[in-house]
Amino acid sequence: MSNSDINGKTALVTGASKGIGKAICLELAQMGVKVAVNYNSSKSEAEQVVQTITDMGGEAFKIHADVSDLEQVNAMVDKVSDEWGGVNILVNNAGIINDGLLMRMSDEAWHRVMGVNLNGTFYCTRATLRHMVRERWGRIINIGSVVGIRGNIGQTNYSSSKAAIIGFTKSLAKEVATRNITVNAVTPGYISTETVAGLSQRQKDTIMTWIPQGKFGNTEDIASMVGYLASERASYVTGQIISVDGGMAI
Ligand code: NAP
Repeated sequence: MSNSDINGKTALVTGASKGIGKAICLELAQMGVKVAVNYNSSKSEAEQVVQTITDMGGEAFKIHADVSDLEQVNAMVDKVSDEWGGVNILVNNAGIINDGLLMRMSDEAWHRVMGVNLNGTFYCTRATLRHMVRERWGRIINIGSVVGIRGNIGQTNYSSSKAAIIGFTKSLAKEVATRNITVNAVTPGYISTETVAGLSQRQKDTIMTWIPQGKFGNTEDIASMVGYLASERASYVTGQIISVDGGMAI
């Protein structure tokens, strides 16, 4: 078993069936953290994540919830609490895009992106916070985006949701600072996941000109920062927005 300083803590990672969320689950599991693997539609992928953690000698279970649905979130957090007593580390990772120019953006595209990316973060955080306050220990790590800092054509909904995550992170960090709960955001640049793989070569070439390091990141680049923020080593780090983006936000 891991001898990390958060060995035995419990985590809930939202949107954990693939991509960055999956890598975060594996990183935390390697640190000896018990991980609740949230998914919405990708049940078998979530099962795979749990299996990988179990094979590593860790502890995990999958749990369904659409994070934009308040009742589903509360039921999910109740289930994790029944299993493990509560959530020590919350990673608000679930996120979607639904791109389009603002003039043609539908209400549905606006509200769905806000519902998952922003309301989901609110619902999951509120539902898990009471336990952290009682325990006088907690870690809340929100996954933002470089686009919430720089903006991007066709992403007014997405960049607004991710910019809001920054205000949320800083405000909540102040609210709970004396309770030994840290609240931070990691803002990835372009990370090699299914979404980025789906871009055209022309789009990839354009994006590359925005990245000083001249390459896309890996899911592990984000996961290792999350692992650090979850650990005791980061106990004096709160309210921070940490870019992991090859220099794109400079
Ligand atoms: P991804 O590969 O598309 O995975 C998205 C994850 O979110 C999936 O596990 C998906 O679960 C889950 N999800 C979607 N809607 C959900 C909902 N309503 N409730 C619960 N889970 C839901 O995405 P990713 O690239 O790893 O991105 C993860 C996070 O990083 C997101 O917040 C994203 O905005 C952010 N980010 C990514 C990049 C990048 O370059 N990849 C850059 C900046 C920021 P199901 O499949 O089970 O529905």
